[in-house]
Formats: sequence, structure tokens, C-alpha cells
Amino acid sequence: MSNLDQIKENIRTFQEEKPLSEEEMKGLLTMAEEMVRKIVLPCTACHYCVSHCPRGLDIPTLLAFYNEHCFTNGGFIAPMALSSYPKEKLPSACVGCRSCEAVCPQQIKISEAMSDFSKKLNM
Ligand code: SF4
Ligand code: SF4
Repeated sequence: MSNLDQIKENIRTFQEEKPLSEEEMKGLLTMAEEMVRKIVLPCTACHYCVSHCPRGLDIPTLLAFYNEHCFTNGGFIAPMALSSYPKEKLPSACVGCRSCEAVCPQQIKISEAMSDFSKKLNM
């Protein structure tokens, strides 16, 4: 909430105990499924992969940015954050060796994600 009107509107909404109709619930679940579908990679940030990367990439953080970027349909947060990274730590520094994938318990295709992210970022 960023202003008084929004606060008042939210208070009005939550004062009333009115469950969603079946149709509203269906719409909400469809929207939620779409949001989850857009979060493309189930990285749990376990960091198992990090010590296996010959380029020393911070894979979980890059994947978090990748997910955010996909989720927001190319939002500005990832490019802005990554613009402060040195070139050798960007997704484009990935050499596609797949050492990380061999140890990832989520079986994420990390090298493909890095390549796709690099194209999307154009950096
Ligand atoms: S595929 Fe890329 S991210 Fe994975 S270990 Fe190799 S260089 Fe690092
Ligand atoms: S090993 Fe897989 S799940 Fe764990 S941080 Fe790396 S990419 Fe994410």
C-alpha cells in the first residue's frame, strides 16, 4: 500500500467476511498456476553446484534472477542487478560444461538456463 486510499480500500475489503464464489476461485487458481508455470526452474539454493563451476559462477543467485526475469516477462530488476556484475560472473561466462548439472538434486538444465538468460539479457 502506498497511500491512504489504498489502506482504506484494503480495510474495507477485509472487514467483510465474504468467501470467493466458485468462479472467482477458479479464476484465482488459474492465475496462480500461470504464475507458478512462469517460475521456470525449481532451484532450492542448496549451493551444491557452486563449487563445481569452473567459472566460479554464483549459480543459485543467477537462477533466482533468471526466474524473476521470466516471471516478470523481462522485468528490469535482473538486468539492473546484473549490470553491477563483472563480465566474468554473468550468465554469458558459462562455458556449458555441465559439471553443475551432474550434482544438482533438482536436475536443472543449468547450462541451458545460462545460455537462454544470456540471450535474454543481451549482456
Ligand atoms: S555449465 Fe556453466 S554454470 Fe554449470 S558448471 Fe559449467 S560453466 Fe558453470
Ligand atoms: S545444485 Fe541445483 S538446486 Fe542446488 S543451488 Fe545449484 S542449481 Fe540450485
